[in-house]
Amino acid sequence: MGLMTAPENVINEINAIVGPKGVLAGADAEPLLHELRGWWPGRAGLVVAPASVDEVARIVRACAQAGVAITPQGGNTGLVGGQTPQNGEILISMRRMRTVRDASAEGMTLTVDAGVTLAEAQEAAVRIDRLFPLSIGSEGTCQIGGVISTNAGGVNVLRYGNMRELVLGLEVVLPDGEIWNGLKSLRKDNTGYDLKHLFIGGEGTLGVVTGASLKLFPRPRERVTVFAALSSPEKALSLLSRAQVASGGNVTSFELMSRFSLGLVYKHIPGARDPLTEEYPWYALIEFSSGREGALRGEAEAILGEAFEAGEILDAAIAENEAQANAFWHLRHVISIAMRPEGAQAKYDVSVPVASVPAFLKDAGAAVERAAPGARIIAFGHMGDGNIHYDVLQPEGGDRAQFDAAEGRIEEAVYDMIDRHRGSISAEHGVGLARRDDIARRKQPAEIAMMRAVKAALDPKGIMNPGKMI
Ligand SMILES: Cc1cc2nc3c(=O)[nH]c(=O)nc-3n(C[C@H](O)[C@H](O)[C@H](O)COP(=O)(O)OP(=O)(O)OC[C@H]3O[C@@H](n4cnc5c(N)ncnc54)[C@H](O)[C@@H]3O)c2cc1C
Repeated sequence: MGLMTAPENVINEINAIVGPKGVLAGADAEPLLHELRGWWPGRAGLVVAPASVDEVARIVRACAQAGVAITPQGGNTGLVGGQTPQNGEILISMRRMRTVRDASAEGMTLTVDAGVTLAEAQEAAVRIDRLFPLSIGSEGTCQIGGVISTNAGGVNVLRYGNMRELVLGLEVVLPDGEIWNGLKSLRKDNTGYDLKHLFIGGEGTLGVVTGASLKLFPRPRERVTVFAALSSPEKALSLLSRAQVASGGNVTSFELMSRFSLGLVYKHIPGARDPLTEEYPWYALIEFSSGREGALRGEAEAILGEAFEAGEILDAAIAENEAQANAFWHLRHVISIAMRPEGAQAKYDVSVPVASVPAFLKDAGAAVERAAPGARIIAFGHMGDGNIHYDVLQPEGGDRAQFDAAEGRIEEAVYDMIDRHRGSISAEHGVGLARRDDIARRKQPAEIAMMRAVKAALDPKGIMNPGKMI
């Protein structure tokens, strides 16, 4: 059956399911049709915010019967356009499903509605003196259903894993409107295919996630944040390895930043200040954390001392208090903002094996220079996960139209180097609309065929978030 825009009788049926409080229109609906940067403007047949799993199931059943398409939406912070309806789909916003259903300190689990924001989930864990470790820049707005559907990463993946590793069970409304209650809190369950993993990173193409059971951890009692100067990414790799081994696994984050990236921060962000007195080519922002109080700072100082002796670091500052630690992190978080005044950019969210990061940076730099001579590279990000945000800026004072014309060549150059190092063209932001055609070209045909088979098996009418991902 071809997909259709919702006819009046379906709209009326959905309106009746959610009631007046659940229908968003005008100024309430408009912001949900645009992602943050204004790319991929959207068009929805109806924007609804159901209040319960039962309401979601009834909406999806009505849509399935009529062959009407659906786009699920969480906090609308996704960076690849997956959350924006393109052709009059029914937009299901999860913003009214915000109940923390259960929190167990002994079982170390948290069970929440999908519309609970990531920050609210973190706070719910703190209330029982536990940690929910996923942390990303959009955590005040993005929702648990969204971070599950995009398999979000962030700054603590090195220690705790990405979202895929933090989910114990899911509740999902399937594309025919049936509710799958997979909300188990089991640490072990070897009874066949682990179906929750289809929905984690599924970008709303296989169902609507309505609830999740999550893993919690002991809360760290001490943190030490270090801003270290380095001569090269090779030295960063040695330092990362040293810090992980010597701290006994206490490295929570390890972020790499080039001088050029930070130079733009000092140039464009008011109040941003270099923690060190001299300039160096590369920097690492390292966070150590421990469940015990008292010993961590001494351990971190000893590691830095050894790294200095081994020539891995050239200088370093250790945050004296939380405000200083936040100031170090601020430098890292505003790099994306600081590059905006510099002109046109092509952005890539690359992952390669951790040990290949230095070689990738060298190879990709040379390939981009061949594709667009004079283009400036801003490389920064989660070195500890092999995930580099690799942004290419137009040449200083260069012609924007000329740079735009070179974008295809730049992309091929970066993607070819990712392939050479057996990496991924989307480490943590997902596929959505932005990378859909790219994965079709770059993934193995057998992988694409398996993805299509899964989609056809679970969503034979193709109503769930059509046009996204595959
Ligand atoms: C400032 C900033 C910093 C960021 N930092 C990071 C980072 O460090 N790491 C990272 O990985 N990402 C990061 N992101 C990207 C973004 O925040 C994540 O992709 C986040 O996981 C999206 O969650 P959301 O609730 O906003 O989902 P949305 O943007 O609403 O949706 C994203 C996708 O998930 C689907 N979806 C949403 N909710 C559901 C549901 N309940 N059921 C089924 N499908 C659903 C949508 O259809 C869409 O395909 C950042 C974004 C911003 C703006």
